[in-house]
Amino acid sequence: MASAAAPATVGRVLFYSTLTALTTGLGALPLLSCRAVTPRNIAFSNCAAAGMCLAASVSLALEGLCTPLPDARLRVLVGAGLGYLFIVATRSFLQRHEDIKFSSLQGANAQKTLLLIVVMTAHSFAEGVGIGVSFNDRAQFGVYVSTALAIHNIPEGLAVALVLVPQGTPVVKAALWAVISSLPQPLMALPAFLFVRQFGGVLPVGLGFAAAAMAHVACFELLPESREEMAKAKGSDVELLGVLGGAFAAMLAVQMALHEASE
Ligand SMILES: [Zn+2]
Repeated sequence: MASAAAPATVGRVLFYSTLTALTTGLGALPLLSCRAVTPRNIAFSNCAAAGMCLAASVSLALEGLCTPLPDARLRVLVGAGLGYLFIVATRSFLQRHEDIKFSSLQGANAQKTLLLIVVMTAHSFAEGVGIGVSFNDRAQFGVYVSTALAIHNIPEGLAVALVLVPQGTPVVKAALWAVISSLPQPLMALPAFLFVRQFGGVLPVGLGFAAAAMAHVACFELLPESREEMAKAKGSDVELLGVLGGAFAAMLAVQMALHEASE
């Protein structure tokens, strides 16, 4: 651990938060080897993405509850309520625009995929605030939090790519969407760093918001889609349960390890 760490500056905050956003694109790379687009593959991909989102949701909620504020629990709860309303509103907006197109996708597929991207992007706002606040704490702590987030972004980029690529989106394009979904991180890190007093109180609300949105999209979009595709492939839900559990455990293990390292 560096004792006489360089002071946190606007430039440093911007550098680390931008780097953090860019690593999200790395998550798409494993899919370069993805060839066959079968219902079975789509089922497994969506299920793995759901497992990762659920684990991310758990750790976002825990992070919010651990914020050193007397009413952190209430703030997380308010954020979760707002997150739920946000998803309901976004979904109803997308459903009213049935002709919606996204990347090379149309109709129901475009709506579902867009909802996932919107949720991933929205939850990045809270993470950006987290980066800014942590740099204000100690510059070294900010570097740890950014590094942890940069690694956490890789499986999240994978979750985005797991939904896009099996539907025919090129890997490079999927990587680009993954990076875009993390752009709010540098965008929010800077104001949060400069106005930490105001943002510090908003952080648990943002984390609650992000946790609820992620959990909702996993349970009500990714998992039903996964089961539907699995039924087409005449596979069983038990197989999906294995994939879900594996992805959840793997992502949670990564997050726990990163959390330990950042303390
Ligand atoms: Zn995240």
